[in-house]
Amino acid sequence: MANDASTVFDLVILGGGSGGYAAALRGAQLGLDVALIEKDKLGGTCLHRGCIPTKALLHAGELADQAREGEKYGVKSTFEGIDMAGVHKYKDGVVSGLYKGLQGLVASRKITYVEGEGRLSSPTSVDVNGQRYEGRHILLATGSVPKSLPGLEIDGNRIISSDHGLHLDRVPESAIILGGGVIGVEFASAWKSFGTDVTIVEGLPHLVPAEDENSSKLLERAFRKRGISFSLGSFFEKAEYTDNGVKVSLANGKEYEAEVLLVAIGRGPVSQGLGYEEAGVAMDRGFVLADEYCRTNIPTVSAVGDLIPTLQLAHVGFAEGILVAERLAGLNPVPVDYDGVPRVTYCHPEVASVGVTEEKAKEIYGADKVVTLKYNLAGNGRSKILNTTGEIKLVQVRDGAVVGVHMVGDRMGEQVGEAQLIYNWEALPAEVAQLIHAHPTQSEALGEAHLALAGKPLHSHD
Ligand SMILES: Cc1cc2nc3c(=O)[nH]c(=O)nc-3n(C[C@H](O)[C@H](O)[C@H](O)COP(=O)(O)OP(=O)(O)OC[C@H]3O[C@@H](n4cnc5c(N)ncnc54)[C@H](O)[C@@H]3O)c2cc1C
Repeated sequence: MANDASTVFDLVILGGGSGGYAAALRGAQLGLDVALIEKDKLGGTCLHRGCIPTKALLHAGELADQAREGEKYGVKSTFEGIDMAGVHKYKDGVVSGLYKGLQGLVASRKITYVEGEGRLSSPTSVDVNGQRYEGRHILLATGSVPKSLPGLEIDGNRIISSDHGLHLDRVPESAIILGGGVIGVEFASAWKSFGTDVTIVEGLPHLVPAEDENSSKLLERAFRKRGISFSLGSFFEKAEYTDNGVKVSLANGKEYEAEVLLVAIGRGPVSQGLGYEEAGVAMDRGFVLADEYCRTNIPTVSAVGDLIPTLQLAHVGFAEGILVAERLAGLNPVPVDYDGVPRVTYCHPEVASVGVTEEKAKEIYGADKVVTLKYNLAGNGRSKILNTTGEIKLVQVRDGAVVGVHMVGDRMGEQVGEAQLIYNWEALPAEVAQLIHAHPTQSEALGEAHLALAGKPLHSHD
């Protein structure tokens, strides 16, 4: 390996997804000399295979539902069908616009962008295309890919991952979705809106099992009403091809058949064969281990994003990338409070939360110290106008701060900004009750929930 690179960068970043590019942008802003290495497309999973394209599909689905339901609002509309090529054109247009913007941003910050597959060759260097890039510090940000189960082979045709699901050239007549987590329920929601007959199979007792149980139950009720079927609490056993699709058998003996099977059981880290172990980086089941400052056990190597065992969210990747850049530039950043990270599942209806669930609050503070309050969106004018139902549930430490906000309802994801301020600023219900919320907005529901928790409910019963 020729070491003809005369430059030693301050920071060499392996992987140009949310975590890697955020570190590059912030590092360059702080005067670091940065090299960013990416084998595929700048922007990574979030921009090309994750957050953005899925939300475009969900928006197209929302329009389809609205076309079907126009009559409810006195609007004469009919739903004639989905033109998948048209949906992809819209989705890809959104992605390519953001992609161009991001490329421009990276170029404008004078970041050395390297195209190619990199490999950690020592604690201070990465090799790409026969060239060695030396760095005073290395950031590993190689992200994740869809996981499968032993014996369940993703063929990209009848048994697919989310990567394939984003490019299907047709609306499947029927689909089984293995996994009722965020990715599974988002696909279920979009496909149902497009006209697919959907069944979700989840081994745990609830859909979106990481959420407060109340949110899961509300989502299940809403999905039932939409005609989305699901099987909870029984694990997958096997999948077999049928003449027209796939048959899935569960441990409880139940069988389901559909045209496609989407495997959405989670994502595993991209770390194999990249030289991490050889360089002595401590790992666990493929994840790189890092402390709250995203430092690995090797002093010159940090790691961020889906590659480390923290929440697999783009904005967590951004925050961790920024943290590393600021630490290397000599600033004194504070570690991420992972409970304070807002989480949104963009299905119809949306599920949004920040802070801890009621169950976890009871573990932390003791069952007798935890107070909860539910505010029904039926009392919120704007939600009524939008014809959405749902609830906001607050979790409070008795006589103390609000430590959990859990919301279900269309567009409630947009309310998570205020919810996260409430959690992260450790607001008391009485302080939030003091703030005036515009009428009629859905944000009012958050205000009303806090009015009620502070003992002075307005549009809700005592
Ligand atoms: C269907 C789906 C929907 C999602 N929706 C949301 C959402 O709504 N909101 C949200 O916050 N998160 C969402 N996520 C999660 C989000 O996309 C990830 O958490 C985020 O992309 C992780 O960023 P990362 O930088 O760690 O990894 P990635 O984005 O995976 O980036 C890693 C990059 O490293 C590159 N790479 C890997 N190995 C090498 C190598 N050897 N050399 C060079 N380059 C390499 C890859 O090509 C990739 O571009 C979604 C994910 C999926 C799959």
